[in-house]
Amino acid sequence: MTNWKTQSLVDGRWVGSLESDVLNPATGAVVGRVPNNGEAGARAAVDAAAGAFPPWSQTIAKQRGRVLRQWYDNIVAHREQLARLLTAEQGKPLAEARGEIDYAASFVEFYAEESRRIHGETIPSHRKDARILVWRQSIGVCAAITPWNFPAAMVTRKCAPALAAGCTVVLKPAMETPLTALALAQLFPHDLAPAGALNVITGDAAAIGKAWCDDPRVRLVSFTGSTEIGKLLIRQSAETVKKLSLELGGNAPFLVFDDADLDAAVDGAIFSKFRNMGQTCICANRFYVQADIYDRFAETLANRVRDMVVGDGTQEGVTQGPLISVDAVAKVQAHLDDAVAGGARIVCGGKPHDLGGTYFEPTVLADVEPTMRVCREETFGPVAPLICFDHEADAIALANASRSGLAAYFYTRDISRAIRCAEQLEAGMVGVNSPYLSCEAAPFGGVKESGLGREGGRDGIAEFLETKYVLLGGLEAP
Ligand code: NAP
Repeated sequence: MTNWKTQSLVDGRWVGSLESDVLNPATGAVVGRVPNNGEAGARAAVDAAAGAFPPWSQTIAKQRGRVLRQWYDNIVAHREQLARLLTAEQGKPLAEARGEIDYAASFVEFYAEESRRIHGETIPSHRKDARILVWRQSIGVCAAITPWNFPAAMVTRKCAPALAAGCTVVLKPAMETPLTALALAQLFPHDLAPAGALNVITGDAAAIGKAWCDDPRVRLVSFTGSTEIGKLLIRQSAETVKKLSLELGGNAPFLVFDDADLDAAVDGAIFSKFRNMGQTCICANRFYVQADIYDRFAETLANRVRDMVVGDGTQEGVTQGPLISVDAVAKVQAHLDDAVAGGARIVCGGKPHDLGGTYFEPTVLADVEPTMRVCREETFGPVAPLICFDHEADAIALANASRSGLAAYFYTRDISRAIRCAEQLEAGMVGVNSPYLSCEAAPFGGVKESGLGREGGRDGIAEFLETKYVLLGGLEAP
């Protein structure tokens, strides 16, 4: 199956005229065209999902698991084609795209298994003649809205647990990267599930989002994207009192203490900061390095960054692709200008790449102050700003001085410091001597303005379930 469909998928049918271009950020070439749905399309998708909800939620859990398992097998069988499609519309190097397809598939596999482990409880009753039963039931129709930075994994991280829980789904992927989402939907084994169990539409995000928030049949909105749009969805969902699951922006601190394994810290910094060209919600946004090792860390990191190969992600050896758009480049440049104007020093990189387009040089910035935009805001680009600190308490205070709280990282060899800092950092996820937080089995999510709820693991399926308390009375012995 290499002829990917690009229409919308509604009620098991591919519909809509192809109106909006999807561009390759590496070349500017058109890689596909998708429909431009609005309110009517959004409502039609919910009609389909609402129709499919009774049969799908009543399908036995083992069978739902089998359907997901078949979806997983189909994704794995198309790994290479999916990775190439992903790189074509998103720009990340092919090796990273393959990794993302594996990561995306891992959620489908995990929730295929987890569908059978939606357990209730029996609670000791307050009456002799009654029993307290607690059931977990599918919440209903779920709306999923996903971003462009992980076009495959964000789709399966929402749709797989939703479907495993017996929910039906309406999905709207980002307009920069809708093709991977549609391809994943094409690979869903539609013959094994009711038409309308999984629907995908593309188009006007504001109109679709508003229609789904206003619709009382949609019981949950699961969104990954900016904090600004997350707040809008909270406001829009107030009228219908919807459950919201929000994975929003981050501003991750990365602390390096002077007792750390410096090489490991530099390896971690490279992965955390420069994966996906720094366009990752959990990527390190600001580096706090203890004074004694500051210069050595800066130089070692810069040497590694100078070796990075920028180019079209389909080419062998390329480690850094283009940024997603000219707006993304402008934001990175504005953050750098602000820092340099305030006295920061460019150690390497620092400007758009000679390749032109949306390519940007991977950058290390020293002598950064916490008041600069590179520290206060999410840069979402390949810039590593380094700030010097003296004492542990200062580093923790600086790290926590943010309204975001998604991920935090630190490197130390001191076990008591490791526990102390992990406890004190205000973040939903903490990487201690490791940047590899993401996996299908762990609860991914943030505190403060980084979001509500968790994705992945057992917590991830709980988002899609309602708790029902049943009091079974009249049980007195005759
Ligand atoms: P964004 O503008 O918020 O877009 C995300 C999604 O929301 C896209 O599908 C977008 O559609 C849609 N959208 C835009 N306006 C909307 C509206 N008024 N109503 C409903 N949906 C709307 O974010 P982005 O710039 O693409 O993504 C980057 C942000 O996502 C960063 O802040 C990053 O930290 C965050 N992120 C968080 C996580 C996490 O797990 N916490 C993961 C990845 C990214 P269109 O593309 O069609 O406009």
